[in-house]
Amino acid sequence: MLVSDLNHFLNLSDDVPAPARRLAQHFADIVRAATAGQRVDEQWTSALPCRRRPGRRPCSGRISLVRHDPPASIRWWCSNCPDEGVISNWENSPYDLRRRRLTAVDAIREIVLDTEVAAALRELLLLDPDCQRLVFSMRAHPNGAALHASDDDLEELIGFVAAEANHEPNRRRQRRLDAAFDALSIAAQRPLVT
Ligand SMILES: [Zn+2]
Repeated sequence: MLVSDLNHFLNLSDDVPAPARRLAQHFADIVRAATAGQRVDEQWTSALPCRRRPGRRPCSGRISLVRHDPPASIRWWCSNCPDEGVISNWENSPYDLRRRRLTAVDAIREIVLDTEVAAALRELLLLDPDCQRLVFSMRAHPNGAALHASDDDLEELIGFVAAEANHEPNRRRQRRLDAAFDALSIAAQRPLVT
């Protein structure tokens, strides 16, 4: 069981080695997922991949989570391997995406994205808190990740993806962003089934 205090992983200096940096990113992503929804006390399985590589092959599990009201720690575990942990001092950190206000409930559509597209969305740098909430509340799905978004949310997210794809110098990442743009645009054009 990994017991981590998020404070130890914030504002890492430049000389921190890559494995510690990756672990910090993993914990940051878990906190964002755990706080992205309104689902206090509810266990759910996010689209976040497990970081373990047993036998040098990536674990196919996804991260399941439960969050209670602070100061309780966030508890997480892999859906497939024994990796698990708790994260304390997450509240009011830069990764705490809990809503500060109530919002109107619009019609929501479910969009299933493949794991590459889901990863590209998580790596977007310029997302506002509403869009981060959308991306990190993605649930595990047999075909990748399930995004739940209203048409307004979707339009905003597509705007961020397009802006970042336009400025991306790395060709591989640009292709991933283009694929994300296409997947979201196609989903946005489908009639909404309520
Ligand atoms: Zn695992």
